[in-house]
Order: sequence, then C-alpha cells, then structure tokens
Amino acid sequence: MIDLNKNVQYIKGVGPTKLLLLNKLGIFTLKDLITYYPRTYEDRSKLKYISECNDGEEALIETVICNNLTNVRLKGKTMQRVIVRDETESATITWFNQPYLKGKFKVGEKYKFFGRITKKGGKVMLNSPVFDIKEKIQNTGRIIPIYPLTYNLSQNNMRKIMEAAIKEAYGNLEETLPQYLLKEYKLENINDATKYIHFPNEFNDFNIARYRLVFEELLSIQLALLKLKNSYMNEEKGIKFSKNAKMSDVINTLPFNLTKAQLRVLEEIDQNMESEKCMNRLLQGDVGSGKTVVAMCAAYKAIKSGYQVAMMVPTAILAVQHLENFKNILEKLNIKCEILVSGITKKKKEKILEELKNGNIDILIGTHAIIEENVVFKNLGLVITDEQHRFGVKQRTKIAEKGKNPDILVMTATPIPRTLALILYGDLDISIIDELPPNRKRIETFAVGKNMTERVNYFIKKQIDEGRQAYIVCPLVEENEEMDLKSVEKLYEVYSKELFPQYKVEYIHGKMKSKDKDSIMERFKNKEIDILISTTVIEVGVDVPNSNIMVIENAERFGLAALHQLRGRVGRGEYQSYCILKFEGKSENVRKRMKVMCETNDGFIISEKDLELRGAGDFFGTMQHGLPEFKIANLFEDIEILKMVQSAAIKILNQDPKLEKKENKLLKELIKEKFMKRIEL
Ligand code: ADP
Ligand code: MG
Repeated sequence: MIDLNKNVQYIKGVGPTKLLLLNKLGIFTLKDLITYYPRTYEDRSKLKYISECNDGEEALIETVICNNLTNVRLKGKTMQRVIVRDETESATITWFNQPYLKGKFKVGEKYKFFGRITKKGGKVMLNSPVFDIKEKIQNTGRIIPIYPLTYNLSQNNMRKIMEAAIKEAYGNLEETLPQYLLKEYKLENINDATKYIHFPNEFNDFNIARYRLVFEELLSIQLALLKLKNSYMNEEKGIKFSKNAKMSDVINTLPFNLTKAQLRVLEEIDQNMESEKCMNRLLQGDVGSGKTVVAMCAAYKAIKSGYQVAMMVPTAILAVQHLENFKNILEKLNIKCEILVSGITKKKKEKILEELKNGNIDILIGTHAIIEENVVFKNLGLVITDEQHRFGVKQRTKIAEKGKNPDILVMTATPIPRTLALILYGDLDISIIDELPPNRKRIETFAVGKNMTERVNYFIKKQIDEGRQAYIVCPLVEENEEMDLKSVEKLYEVYSKELFPQYKVEYIHGKMKSKDKDSIMERFKNKEIDILISTTVIEVGVDVPNSNIMVIENAERFGLAALHQLRGRVGRGEYQSYCILKFEGKSENVRKRMKVMCETNDGFIISEKDLELRGAGDFFGTMQHGLPEFKIANLFEDIEILKMVQSAAIKILNQDPKLEKKENKLLKELIKEKFMKRIEL
C-alpha cells in the first residue's frame, strides 16, 4: 500500500520550482495530487482529414511536413509557420513566440497536430497546436485531461507529474469504500477510478470513474450531516412549549394579514415547538417574504411558555432594526426586548447581563457578542439565527449550549433549490415561505455596459430630485476587506466630487466601527443622505423604504444569489424601484447571468440558475455554509446521484447509527477525515 501523505516533492518530475507551483494549488501530498481532478478533457483521439475539418473546431490531423519552419518577425513578436499536408489537403500551421520550434520538424516526416482550426477562403489554418511525432502518444491521440492551473504551470507539466503519480499509486491504493457498497451500487474500485478519472482511454472509463468518486464524496457529506442530525435527536428530549401560549395573540396585532405561506410555516413551527421533539428548523424565504414576523410569533410562544429567547444576527445594524420591529409589536404584549452588540458601554452591558441572568429580559437580540461566555440566560428556550449562511454550525451550537436543549430556528434568505436544501441541510427540518406579501412592486432591473453610464447617472439624479435615495454598491474585490475598503473610498471620491457634488454622499463598509455604521444607516433612514456608497454590508436586511434605486458596480463579479440579496434592499416602500447592474466583459456566461437577473425576481429560480451557470463550488463557496468544497461532485448535474446517496446514507445509519460495525469502519474514516476540522461531529 502506498503512503498517501507522502510529500509531492518525491514524485518524479517535481523539482523545487514545480513544488512551489503545486503548493500554490493546494497540493502538498500525493493524495492532494491524485485528487486534483481535471476541469475538463480534450478528445484528441479521433483523427480527421484536413478536408473534413470545420472552422472553429478543435481537431486532430496526421500530416507530412512540406517545408522547413519559417520564423518571421512581426511587431514585438515572432511567428513560426509550417505547411503540412495529408491525403486530402494542405494546411498552414502557425505559432507565436516559439522560436525553439525551429529544427523540430523534419520535412517529409509524419506528425500529429491537435488544435483549433480556422478556415479562411477555403484555406485551412491551425493555430498554436500541440503535436507528437509519428506514433508517439504524448500530447495527442488520446483523451487528455485539462487541469485548473495557475500561471506558470503548464498543462504539459501537470500531465507529466500526474502520470508519474498515477503510475506509482495505481494498484497500491487502499479501498476507501466498503465492499458491500461497491457491489450494491456497482461502483468502480478506487484504483481504477483514480487512474481513469485522470487518464480515461475512452469516455466511458471516465463516466464510470466519475460516478464512483462523486458517489463517495456525496456519501461522506450525507453521512456526516445525518449523523449530526441524529446526534441532536439522541440527546434528551426538547422543550414542550405550552399550548396556551398562542401565536395568534401576535398575529392579531399585525397591521396586515399573513400570507398563506407564512401561516403554513407558523403551523409547522407551532407543532414542532409543542411537541417534545427538539426543533432544529431552517426557515427559508426570499428577501421580503416576511420571516421576521414568523420569528416574532415563535419568540412570543416561547416567552409565554416561560422561557427566554436569543436572536443572533450578523450585523449590528440588523440587530437594531430587528429590535425596533420586535419592540413595536411585542412590547404591547408585555415582552421585554433588549439588544447586545459589541461597542456598548460597559455599564450598559453589565446591566443587560444582570437582567438577562435574573430573567427580566425576555428576548435578547444581538450579534455574535451574545455567544460570549459571560452572557448567561436564566432560562433560554429558543434560539433564532437570522441569515444563517453567515454563521457556522459551530456558532449555532455554541449559543444553543446556553440553554438546556433549546429549540432552534435558523432563518435564511438565500434560496436554495429545494432538492438541494433537503440534502445539504440534512441536519435541519425545513420550512419554506414561497410567497411574497401581496402588492409588492416588481423591482425593475437593467443590465448596462459602460456606454450607458451617463444615462444611469441622469436617472439617479432624476430619482433623487423626486425625493428618493440611492444605493451604490461596490464591486467585491476579493475576499479581502482591505481591498474592498479601497474600492469604496475610490468610488466615494468619484460620486461625491465628480458626479454628484450637489448631493449628500456617504459611504459605509464592514470595517467601520459598528457605532459609525449605525449612525450612517440611521442618517440614511432619516433622509439625511441621498446616495450611500456601500460594500455588501447592506446585503443583510436593512430597511430603508424611501430608497428606490440601487446601482451595482461590476455586477459581473457577484454571484446571482448575492445580487438578488442586494437587490432586495430596494423595493421595500411604496415607490417603483430599480436595480441597475453595471457590468463589464463580453463573456456569454456573464450575459446569461445578467439576463436572469433582469428577467426574474424569484429567488428560487435565480438560485437554480446560479447553480447551473456557476457550478456548485462557487455557489456554495460564497454562501459560507461551513461545508467543505466539492472536489468532483457538481450539485446541479449530480442530483440523481445525490438522491441515491441520500437513501443509501439513511439505510446505513438506520442499521448502524454510530458506524460501529466492522464493514462500516471505512465510512467512519471517510467522515472523520473530511469533516473533523469543519463540523464537530
Ligand atoms: P424578510 O423575510 O426579508 O426578513 P421581513 O420580515 O423584513 O422580510 O418583511 C419585509 C416587510 O414586509 C416588512 O416591512 C414586514 O412588516 C412586511 N410584511 C411581512 N409580512 C407581510 C404580509 N403578510 N403582508 C404585508 N406585509 C408584510
Ligand atoms: Mg430579514
């Protein structure tokens, strides 16, 4: 058996320079290397005659060299050119800046070339192809893996390294799945799967290999999540909240009627809270679907049953807003709400902590400050977290530990396709609000290129002159707050000095003290600011009904789910609202994404499209959901495997809840290895 933890520096072909490049890709061990899967494949196995080649396609031709390679100097670069022919026709092959090709080709000898064909006036050209001499199969003549690489490490280099690694590993890899699963689900063994995922002889090899590897990856996640769920359930029983604490007390004081979806969800929550089954529920609903009142009703029920409630939100701004909303409704019903965020005075904090401990405060709303150790509840019965993708499973668990098995309600406005939610949040029950309150105006969305800037600015001016306010959202530079900061400040200069000196322009970003952020949001709410430049800190839930226009700069850099969340900040009042997506670049994918945003306001449709257009890695990456990234599975394409895996996982855990049986030893290892660091099982 081979040691998978062996450093890649011992693989043939890996010198000091390549080692660094591999490390940059996150490849340190042999295991990292052989699980670094191709991004795609090129079929260089089927020969074509030159006369059969079509413009724009990639093709493999086998030809004889007709003349010596010429080397021509052009402005600042060199061009290499050679004429080749096969039985049907001749073709011209060109490269740029590859003078070392001189002397590589012998006139009259046979070579295979693979590359992109262009046809001009019937003449066939091949640009910068790869090639092999005679019968050799190195770069052509087979299905070639293409890896996601960084600059400086070529596909050729990577392929050679991978070949060496696979050669060493093949036949020596220890099976990672139990035999009974391999049999039952007709899964390829680990050695063949690993070999053929990199170097398939034909596409069927690839399919079989991929199926096995995807199965394994998804199975480990499913098992981990289900185990997590079981571990909640195996604990002592949950709280049975009182039947006499009636949510309708709250509902009756509301100035509007609840939607059918809100009522249905409340019914689900009510039942769950009254049963002795501990509630671990995800409440999903699009931006503006009215999750807050649902949370309020649940909180009310808990409090009237004699318990306290903690509500955790990702930003101080949001905490303030929730506090106001809760007070508006719940104070009339004799419930004491408080807020705890970092940055309040020591004296105030001490008072809050004291009152919390003796039970004077019924509901505490706050940021992660409420996780701190010195925050002690008298009798915590319900934990609500808002915008759950910002919190990890760990944080959720930590706050729950402040009570005795409290019920948990997790709210998120990130719509996830239903099938996926059921699986990915395998540790939670799910309630979905799939309906917006009536009479919501559709937010008109436009995607515009640079050439429209002036018109957009004019449009902003018009709206402000009519008394409205605007958000300008900065591009995400990277996941780097320093950089984001710079881009906010730069944009602020442009808007406040060059474009709109006549208006009050301000900016806000995540690195500001929460006091300053709050004061800016307060001023924006009070119409003291006309234009607010912002990073995505406004993404989560702040309500300013008078602002009806949002401009998103470099919208192409955001995922659709994020754009949708941002857009939800406008359209909260009586005015027709607008979202303008400024984008750069001509890529088909960007255009498609912009189009989706303009065509629909439905978060669930958007999330499906997002997944389809970006792939699951990115999709979930930006959600910060606390799950590991997928190395090979694509949650959009692999739904069928996912379903199969889910039922397999349920079956396995039903028979062996703790994975103690001998035949499941490997499965236990699998989960441990993948998840120990991220989710505490
Ligand atoms: P989100 O789900 O994004 O948190 P909110 O709970 O903040 O949405 O609700 C958005 C707005 O809609 C709030 O002003 C809220 O008072 C209002 N609202 C909630 N439910 C209804 C309803 N059934 N009918 C009318 N307005 C509602
Ligand atoms: Mg909300």
